Amino acid sequence: MATLPADPQQIIERFGPHLSSMSGVRLSTSVEPERLVKTHCCFCGQQCGIQLKTRDNVVIGFEPWEDFPFNRGMLCPKGVKRYLQGAHPDRLLTALERSPSSPGGFRSVPYADAIARVAREIERLQTVHGPDAVGVLGGASLTTEKTYLLGKFARMCLRTRYIDYNGRLCMVSAGAANKKAFGIDRTTSPWSDMVGTEVIWVAGSNVAECSPITTNYLWQAREQGARIIIQDPRITPVARTCDLYLPVRPGRDAALFAGVLRIMIERDWIDHAFIEASTTGFDEVAAYCREWPLARTADVTGVPARSILQAAEWWGTATSSFLFHARGIEHHSNGVQNALGTINLVLASGRIGTPKSGYGTIVGQANGQGGREHGQKCDQLPGWRDISVPEHRHYIAGVWGMDERDLPGPGVDAYEMFRKIDAGEIKALVAICFNPKISLPDASFVTRALDKLEFFTAIDFFLSDTARHADVVLPGSLQEEDEGTVTQVEGRIIKINKAIPCPGEAREDWRIVQDVARALGRERGFTFDSPRAIFEELRVASKGGVADYSGVTYEKVEREMGVFWPCYSEDPRSGAPLADHPGTPRLFEPGSYNPVAKGAGPFYFPDGRARFNVAEYRPPVDDASEEYPVLLTTGRVVSQFLSGTQTRRIGPLVRQYPEPRVEMHPRLAGTLGIADGDWTTVETRRGSMTVRASVVTTIRPDTVFVPYHWAGPKSVNQLTVAAQDPISRIPQYKVCGCRVRKADGPPPYAAALEPQQ
Ligand code: SF4
Repeated sequence: MATLPADPQQIIERFGPHLSSMSGVRLSTSVEPERLVKTHCCFCGQQCGIQLKTRDNVVIGFEPWEDFPFNRGMLCPKGVKRYLQGAHPDRLLTALERSPSSPGGFRSVPYADAIARVAREIERLQTVHGPDAVGVLGGASLTTEKTYLLGKFARMCLRTRYIDYNGRLCMVSAGAANKKAFGIDRTTSPWSDMVGTEVIWVAGSNVAECSPITTNYLWQAREQGARIIIQDPRITPVARTCDLYLPVRPGRDAALFAGVLRIMIERDWIDHAFIEASTTGFDEVAAYCREWPLARTADVTGVPARSILQAAEWWGTATSSFLFHARGIEHHSNGVQNALGTINLVLASGRIGTPKSGYGTIVGQANGQGGREHGQKCDQLPGWRDISVPEHRHYIAGVWGMDERDLPGPGVDAYEMFRKIDAGEIKALVAICFNPKISLPDASFVTRALDKLEFFTAIDFFLSDTARHADVVLPGSLQEEDEGTVTQVEGRIIKINKAIPCPGEAREDWRIVQDVARALGRERGFTFDSPRAIFEELRVASKGGVADYSGVTYEKVEREMGVFWPCYSEDPRSGAPLADHPGTPRLFEPGSYNPVAKGAGPFYFPDGRARFNVAEYRPPVDDASEEYPVLLTTGRVVSQFLSGTQTRRIGPLVRQYPEPRVEMHPRLAGTLGIADGDWTTVETRRGSMTVRASVVTTIRPDTVFVPYHWAGPKSVNQLTVAAQDPISRIPQYKVCGCRVRKADGPPPYAAALEPQQ
């Protein structure tokens, strides 16, 4: 049973989150480190370079890594304090087994016993109910080696079709749109192409808080004359100094893009030569855009007509431009259409594949890009191959040395897996680097599903809110305790270096996965002795796929401080061996060759042309109504990361923004009789929460905002709706109808819990 083994308060007392702080050797600048390890920040997809200072097998601080080209030594508050996650009082040092009579509901057990129990339970349930009775959930903060191994573990060792990952909540709308429009899913250009461009359009990305180092690129671009357009329901920090702010009503982005493109077509601000020579589908898109005259666009989106016109003129008449987007337009039941709307603007301008012009999607998690390429998605095999395509299955089965007929077919998305748990189809779960109890919408449903599992094992370094439900917890590794590669926001593969060993009985995650395979007696294919060995197999598995890493080596990544994929080991034209392919910093350059188009054009389709796609506006599911008249949107703050498992344990980060608040405009607050700091209840069709109000002028008056990093009664995902995009299956986090009222007083948790708990 996967119900909580003890009262949550008892679990918190024993396992946290408690706060770490700068103390002892970690406070003193006079303590000399034994080693300085060049590696990367463990948090967001920017993957800033950093040097970790270590002493006595503890990370005691950091130094800037000024040579690393992406961030040149700069870090945001999370990067500066990331070293405080190590040597933490909450760190799991042994395996745990559910034990309701033990303090906190768990007792330590020998690692080997825990592995044996996990294997026994998997064997038992698969024998009775079949291979698909066990599901696997992975994560996009894992190294690419681990994501590859996890996909192989699910398909080859467990033979289950049910594997998916938490990138499902993050990057999949962008990925699906890129696939439909370009045939490849990667940001087109290095971020340095922003500097010197004429116009930058940021659609639904709170850059300064969610991907802070990108702000520096925006500022550099602005200093060189770029105009910055920000599209967001909130006046985010970068919006405060932008040239044009588009205060779009949550969930109306596709309408805005259609309206802008209509103006560009009417005024002839489009690149006819590029559209003619390098794309298909323009006429259908133009016909759809005719449905979006200026007055209708302004009415639906809430953006003033003059601002829509201005955006169309600046974008339409520029000679160079960069557009990027993030969760603000992607976290919608219309997320793929929104992303396609931006791509239509880019393709109509013809400004892609050339210096100082590009299109990108900002990944959220550390390995948001690499984590979606090599086989932990429910429909995917390594190298961005498709698990439903016979040739792709044949190739990977050959690499893995298994009968192609034994390779399972496509599974379902992460949320659908919880529906299958709820329905009793999936009976056991192996989860790593995923905290769905906080990060999935409609949290009470997720909790109910977790409670129904017959067996649940979590691999984790802290006892996350989800791991509290586990029968067995296996102590995994922090980022600094292992090596491997990740692929950061630009498509640059970089190397994470091991700074310290795992403490206690904790293990590198890839060892744990292989230990389970061995205990099951299914170790063939799971005898790697290092991440390097996994990477060498991954190179072969990715070869010939769209995400081709075959020409990448650890040495090359270190020497060149990153390699952009695709990077070939054989010339895609002739098949001749290539000793040192330079990688592909900028996609779609005129005259470029790729193995799909085979010289027909720069895009990854047989005809070499990009696709315009009709990007249709659909109103959000659970929109504002008479009963729930206000729009609720959710997001992040700069000092916290994702579900907060790490950052809610770091004292200085918690003190920057201790607890969630509900942001609202003074006009709405005045109507409701709410003052800044008042306890306020926000309620949707799924639940309610009470938090303090932040009354700010930087949000639309019809919208409230709550950040999502907290747990239990402080989790805004108690309120969000589990509506999903039909193509990407991303949940609609960014909008639902709610009602707001002043609370009678503080909620019970205010007296019982520390801010981070
Ligand atoms: S911007 Fe991202 S990668 Fe860079 S320091 Fe901040 S959290 Fe870390």
